[in-house]
Amino acid sequence: MTDNWNLTGHDWAVDMLSRHVANGEARHAYLFCGPAGLGRRSLALAFAQALNCTNPPAPGQFCGECRDCKQTAAMQHPDMTVIQAEAEGGTLKVDQVRAVQHALALKPYQSKYRVALFLNFQDAHPSAANALLNGLCHTAIVSGGYSPALGFIHTGKQLSFVYDVADLYKAEITVPLAFQTVAESTDKVEARVRTACREKFREAKLLDRILPDIDSLLQIDPETFVEGDDFDGDPALPGPLWDVSPLGTMSDEESEEAAE
Ligand SMILES: [Zn+2]
Repeated sequence: MTDNWNLTGHDWAVDMLSRHVANGEARHAYLFCGPAGLGRRSLALAFAQALNCTNPPAPGQFCGECRDCKQTAAMQHPDMTVIQAEAEGGTLKVDQVRAVQHALALKPYQSKYRVALFLNFQDAHPSAANALLNGLCHTAIVSGGYSPALGFIHTGKQLSFVYDVADLYKAEITVPLAFQTVAESTDKVEARVRTACREKFREAKLLDRILPDIDSLLQIDPETFVEGDDFDGDPALPGPLWDVSPLGTMSDEESEEAAE
């Protein structure tokens, strides 16, 4: 294994991705753009190997020999889902995206990370793009300790808050994706795909924005959120679903308060 993951022509990408793995800074999603035959899938698979290798020769590298590496390379890893259009040139369906969201919500079965690989995502139907947006928002909402059901604009649905949050980004992200009916027209395909990629890049950055955006919407100071002091004192204040301190570590005073 060389330090460019045995891939040629992707040096800067490999360098960045292996640094993310080595530093534990892997993002929720990455988009690999480029013309067909460039090696986007190979790069994504190598990245998945680096994420889940059990015997990396160096930080951010992968061995290629362990069970996780081999299963990933064969696209047969129990924690990896590969999604693509059912037929060549077909459309990625909303149901396929929903099925992945379900899988991603579960804990990894064998490895550190669950990985979903969307092949040829430019072929996604706009409704699939919206479903994915909802999924990303759902993940962020749950990981932030918010209740997905307690919406403000949308109410009475299991995912009311998810729809609220997703709506913040639809005009920016998924409505532009509608032009990805590129599959239906052969006019200026290259320019259109390039634009689609740019939008997707924004989507990847979006993931880093969702929680801070929710916090600022609800006027939650991250410090307060972590400390939880004000949360305890004000029953109307939005806060985490669970106590940040482990069970059984309450002081006597806190226990008395809790009993009251
Ligand atoms: Zn390995």
